[in-house]
Amino acid sequence: MIINTPCLIIGSGPAGYTAAIYAARADMKPLMFEGLQPGGQLTTTNEVENFPGYPQGVTGPEMMIQLKEQAARFDADIRPGFIEKVDFTGPIHRCWSDDGTEIHAQTVIIATGASAKYLGLESEQKYLQSGGGVSACAVCDGFFYRGQETVIVGAGDSACEEAHYLSKLCTKVTMLVRKDEFRASKIMAERVKNTANITILYNTETEEVLGDGNLVHGVRVRNTKTQETYEIPCTGFFVAIGHKPNTDIFKPFIELDETGYIKYAQPGSTRTNVTGVFVAGDAADKTYRQAITAAGTGCMAALDAERYLASQH
Ligand code: NDP
Repeated sequence: MIINTPCLIIGSGPAGYTAAIYAARADMKPLMFEGLQPGGQLTTTNEVENFPGYPQGVTGPEMMIQLKEQAARFDADIRPGFIEKVDFTGPIHRCWSDDGTEIHAQTVIIATGASAKYLGLESEQKYLQSGGGVSACAVCDGFFYRGQETVIVGAGDSACEEAHYLSKLCTKVTMLVRKDEFRASKIMAERVKNTANITILYNTETEEVLGDGNLVHGVRVRNTKTQETYEIPCTGFFVAIGHKPNTDIFKPFIELDETGYIKYAQPGSTRTNVTGVFVAGDAADKTYRQAITAAGTGCMAALDAERYLASQH
């Protein structure tokens, strides 16, 4: 089956839904494929307290349902499933979904986001899923651990930034660095080293996140030099070992940076190097990664796509 559409939106986080709301209201009849994780990364967040307009806060999944309803209200065609292949060589962009549907789109908005990397421990995943104290976003969830002790894993710029953010809220932050050095830029590493309530443990790996089944109360770590294992008490366990942008299928056509993020072709625009293909949200953002910034670029991408369509007529 072939579907023709003026606007295909790939992905359904705040970027994708905002693009769908704007595109639908502009009568572009957008078709959206929600992707592997409908609602995106926010569906693994508990409470969202920093998205303007929710004075009492809102849970990530609830906000995604509301954004979806808002897009559906204007007749955006929102479908389950994911786009598994694209061909951006011609003037009409061809995409294929996992159920075999072929889509011919005049414009495409990529809003596939990025996925936080996790250690992959069973205990980590258990408390992540249950919202019991594991998080990959200190800016999103750090506030819930104010006045408490937290542990953060990672040694890159993200880990340093997040550890510093946590240090302002928490009584103590323990940073687990698996090698004997930071990967982060010198200035970022120096900042955490000079923060009084951050303790850095080098050559240290996480063995298990400990808890009572509902809530985290510590972490068992191992020093890889001495093989000594011990427990560190904490109520929050933050993982900051990088993100992977979900951009693999676009690689043959779209220009990516060295870490796989899509490059904007022009400042102040969501255009990519392919005419008629735009990008919004974390697939092109390794700096801010917030729901509100993703929503903002989703809006920009829909406006850019609308202007592009108008210029074609
Ligand atoms: P990075 O890939 O730079 O760093 C990942 C860190 O996680 C490394 O220290 C790595 O350790 C560690 N790590 C990876 N896997 C594991 C594991 N299984 N167990 C323990 N530790 C692990 O990711 P970032 O997200 O920090 O940064 C991505 C990019 O974004 C970088 O280019 C960075 O400079 C940029 N950035 C810039 C910021 C700024 O300038 N304000 C802020 C945030 C990011 P190891 O070193 O041992 O490999």
